[in-house]
Amino acid sequence: MPATDLDQIVNLCKRRGFVYPSAEIYGGFRSSYDYGPLGSLMLRNVREAWIRTMVQQRDDVLLIDAAILAPPAVFEASGHLANFSDPLVDCTKCKQRFREDHLTDPNVCPNCGAVGSFTEARAFNLMFKTYAGPVEGLGAEVYMRPETAQGMFVNFVNVLQTSRKKPPFGIAQVGKSFRNEITPGNFIFRTREFEQMECEFFVPPAESAQWYEYWCNARFQWYVDLGIPADMLRLRAHDADELSHYSAGTSDVEFMYPWGWGELEGIAQRTDYDLKQHAQHSGQKLDFFDQATNERYVPYVIEPAAGVNRAMAAFLLAAYDEDEVGGEARTILRLHPRLAPYKVAVLPLSKKDTLTPLAREIFRGLGERYMVDYDDTQSIGKRYRRQDEIGTPLCVTVDFDSLEDGAATIRERDTTTQVRVPIADLETEIRARLGF
Ligand code: ATP
Repeated sequence: MPATDLDQIVNLCKRRGFVYPSAEIYGGFRSSYDYGPLGSLMLRNVREAWIRTMVQQRDDVLLIDAAILAPPAVFEASGHLANFSDPLVDCTKCKQRFREDHLTDPNVCPNCGAVGSFTEARAFNLMFKTYAGPVEGLGAEVYMRPETAQGMFVNFVNVLQTSRKKPPFGIAQVGKSFRNEITPGNFIFRTREFEQMECEFFVPPAESAQWYEYWCNARFQWYVDLGIPADMLRLRAHDADELSHYSAGTSDVEFMYPWGWGELEGIAQRTDYDLKQHAQHSGQKLDFFDQATNERYVPYVIEPAAGVNRAMAAFLLAAYDEDEVGGEARTILRLHPRLAPYKVAVLPLSKKDTLTPLAREIFRGLGERYMVDYDDTQSIGKRYRRQDEIGTPLCVTVDFDSLEDGAATIRERDTTTQVRVPIADLETEIRARLGF
């Protein structure tokens, strides 16, 4: 059964080295996290799974990596300077701050219960501002991007000209974004520094409805294919009053978090808003000339926008399980092999010198292809438990018989079944089980 309490995952993440509170030796830095040895591998796997589906397995999406810092002109054009704000209210009794649109009852303080104690809502801009160069002041102001999307819009013509693509085609990017969130929280679900995976998919305007539907379904399916049960996911269309200033329609892929349904990814129909805004503000032509029809037009944009960290939290929550093996309780992460930090663990039965060279050789061989852990501490039972808890799909055990018969044991995480295979066939056997 998936985790029912966020603490199950928070504790496991800390205990096993997935996620640590930031600056912990200085008392921590609120709602900020560092990813440890396993967490950073898993984040990388989430990114790679996304790039694989969105870029590698199709011929109409190109990857870029744009700058995080940008001049105010970009965000003036995009509307972020004027519109990217949340309504902030303070409780005059307990001094706590809230996002007005997150309150279940806009009259009652969820912290102290006071009624009618809120200040008027103020629009609080979420962008982090800083200064480039040694002099603070006008002209040196820069912003840290609050989304990766603008990097794709300002490079639309560059990519169009250098790639020889034509709509429908997309530009994708994975990278950090920054938002001065009023109420960060729920572990890595909402932080001020986070990572996004976004694609701006440019289409002829007449095809935008069909591509919007296509991307809603494709993005929902991505999470299912990576192991989240479909009944923990839903696609929810925004009501008209929820829509962003640029959007003609948005649907969220939502996940059933322990605290209820929450956004995992948004798919927005951005029309030609962004390209037109940037064309107007920059004075550049940001459109497409279709030679087949002799027509010039500004493409419409469908944007699937996901969060790397939020996705990682959902994958962990869904994969969490507790069961019993041989009368002993075990915690297990039933992660999809593509997401698991390690694909295989090589475990010599003993630390004895006689076993080490063979175990090391197997580790090196498999390491050519996969991220592999090597562990020769503690009892074999404890080592299996540890690998189960960090989601390693397969263990390879090397024992004294291996020296004689040239075979090793593959043990599967989910079923705990063990099979003995010739060491010469290990890689083929492992590939068959992992699926890649
Ligand atoms: P929310 O309503 O939860 O604030 P949003 O609608 O503002 O999210 P988008 O602007 O659509 O979010 O961003 C796309 C994705 O980026 C989100 O679905 C989420 O996965 C991720 N994301 C956005 N803000 C954060 C954050 N503060 N921390 C972690 N991930 C985030």
